[in-house]
Amino acid sequence: QPGAFGISFDSDRDKNAAVVPTFNRNEKLALQEQRRRLPVFQHRREILYLVEHHATVIIVGETGSGKTTQIPQYLLEAGWCSHGRMVACTQPRRVAAMTVAARVAEETGSPLGQAVGYGIRFEDVSTPGTTQIRFCTDGVLLQEMLQDPLLTAYSVIMVDEAHERSLATDTLLGLLKKVQRRRPDLRVIVASATLEAERVAAFFDASTVRGAAAKAGDLSKQPAILSVEGRTHSVQIHYLEKPCSDYVRAAVQAAADIHREDMPGDILIFLTGQQECEDCVSMLEEEARKVRAGRAALRLMPVPLYAGLPAAAQLAAFEHSPRGYRKVVVATNIAETSVTIDGVVYVIDCCHSKQASYNPLTGLESLLVAPVSKASASQRAGRAGRMRPGHCFRLCTEADFQALHDATVPEMQRAELSGTVLRLKALGVDNMMTFDWLAPPPAETMVRALELLHALGALDASARLSRPTGQQLAELPVDARLGAVLLASVRLGCSEEAVTVVAMLSVHSVWAGAHGERKALEAAKAKFAVGEGDLVTYLNVWKAWQDSGRDRKWAARNFVNHRTLLRAADIRSQLCHHLRRLRIALESCDAEVSLLRKALTAGLLMNAVQLVDTANDISDPASAGINVYRILRSTGPGPPPKLRIHASSVLARTRPQWLVFWQMQQSSSGWFEMQEVTAVEPHWLPELAAHVYSHKGIRS
Ligand code: ADP
Ligand code: MG
Repeated sequence: QPGAFGISFDSDRDKNAAVVPTFNRNEKLALQEQRRRLPVFQHRREILYLVEHHATVIIVGETGSGKTTQIPQYLLEAGWCSHGRMVACTQPRRVAAMTVAARVAEETGSPLGQAVGYGIRFEDVSTPGTTQIRFCTDGVLLQEMLQDPLLTAYSVIMVDEAHERSLATDTLLGLLKKVQRRRPDLRVIVASATLEAERVAAFFDASTVRGAAAKAGDLSKQPAILSVEGRTHSVQIHYLEKPCSDYVRAAVQAAADIHREDMPGDILIFLTGQQECEDCVSMLEEEARKVRAGRAALRLMPVPLYAGLPAAAQLAAFEHSPRGYRKVVVATNIAETSVTIDGVVYVIDCCHSKQASYNPLTGLESLLVAPVSKASASQRAGRAGRMRPGHCFRLCTEADFQALHDATVPEMQRAELSGTVLRLKALGVDNMMTFDWLAPPPAETMVRALELLHALGALDASARLSRPTGQQLAELPVDARLGAVLLASVRLGCSEEAVTVVAMLSVHSVWAGAHGERKALEAAKAKFAVGEGDLVTYLNVWKAWQDSGRDRKWAARNFVNHRTLLRAADIRSQLCHHLRRLRIALESCDAEVSLLRKALTAGLLMNAVQLVDTANDISDPASAGINVYRILRSTGPGPPPKLRIHASSVLARTRPQWLVFWQMQQSSSGWFEMQEVTAVEPHWLPELAAHVYSHKGIRS
């Protein structure tokens, strides 16, 4: 039957292209031969020359041209890793740091963690003294600067994927510019898939007289720009004729349609998050049983790829399709530019992504699924043209597509900034407004961040980092609010429990439920659910898992994600280590969970809400008397935002009068939906934070 796109791609050109056996050829090439075939290889000498002579080099090149995997190796080969110094390559995403490090280790022929290692939050796979190339997240490098502000462990810092403009990348660029003044020997490479290179160049340009290049042999302070040509084929774009209401289903349909056409090539689907990816994978598995491509009798082989996936499972996405199978990688936007998956000829793009959005007026941060920019969509489409001419199916109409923004707003402009401000202050940057930003964040967001840090006790009266609280919060590798929970738990005598909860909040998805198992999952959840809320429920899950002897089968029976808990256990022991370093002893409150709730309140105090009685509110009959909360602290001018408890919460039905929440999502209908909520006592708020709440202001 005809697919949703109303097209079939029976053009002869494509069929002919398919005959050329471009697919498995790479597989057969030796790794070194593959390296030489990458576009950056043509520029190897030029890159090394520029790095030698310029403090900053900006390299722009299409995804897949070899920037990430090759440039650090060129530097190593040219001797930049002598005298015990390393080359760092930063990535905005954890998955990218891990997979790229694995690839480069393979290419250099040494086990991962030796010459080539990686560092992501809570996981360091490198060997001091031995590791020469270190891939790490931009956030990890920022955290390292607290111990080593001049980054003396490194000779070159390559800030990769700069076009993503992640919060940490932007912060890092500002700091590196400062570091360069103190360390003229440090080299900075800024690499990106698309970039206003001139703008970054202007940012780094420290030469007094522009254009006055340094004398031969001298180091030029003026940044060099190098473009690496791509090597991509044309990609034909297809749009829907009518908008679709469920893009996951539409993606499955489109994949099935492509499959029926019976042409070689893997499929890459872009969705927005873990749940969607998992849903899509199970729907595709069902589809795989139904559709078998005719002649070739290929089978569909769906593979998920998202940040929360365990490392081993992530690697499956990069493996070549086994004979007789067509791989369908179902990914979040991590596959947009950070990682390259060979063999993809078809891209199906839902044209949305999950984005952090922060409103400085209300001080509310939420995740929401929003349309991507045209720049993102074109990167995604580009993934289809690496092997041969490809196709990209956008799950929206052409008119809707034309209405998208041209470029993605940098995270700095749309994120909550307390963590950034905290760490900058710890590095001695006290005046945020005069810091050298690539693009300065909104002033109101800054003010809100200072307000939150002040509420948490991280700042003293003159807005400097307080000691010890502020200093400790900066050093703990968790969100400032969660750090404050830990510090409060020490005072309250429930740090054993708090450290467990904070570890559980640092992993994705404690629950494991595949598509079609929602009912069973809900029933399993109910076994652990308590009236105190989701975070205390997490604590119960943890305890039960411990009692089972960390049993994998127990986890499977109870719809608990065993791997996630193993990771939480690892994070937990690292957090304990950090606390010990801060000379903080752990103590258990045993059954006295109200102490834990109080500690949670201390960290999440700006996220305290009260149930609103809307029984008489005729302006909004739909919400009358049901799940509507208002935030207790001031939210600035304008109507107060309306919040409700997300359906996934164990308190979605009970709805206590007072609670604090950890995360929030924005629903498509504009509601702020609180996830991971904890019931609290209202009088705790003024007790814990008299500078924010008064007893008068909090009435039951
Ligand atoms: P860029 O950073 O310019 O986007 P990369 O250096 O990441 O390019 O990738 C260069 C090539 O290396 C890719 O085209 C791909 O063929 C190969 N490659 C990269 N990572 C992996 C991996 N994890 N597994 C297999 N091949 C990989
Ligand atoms: Mg790259």
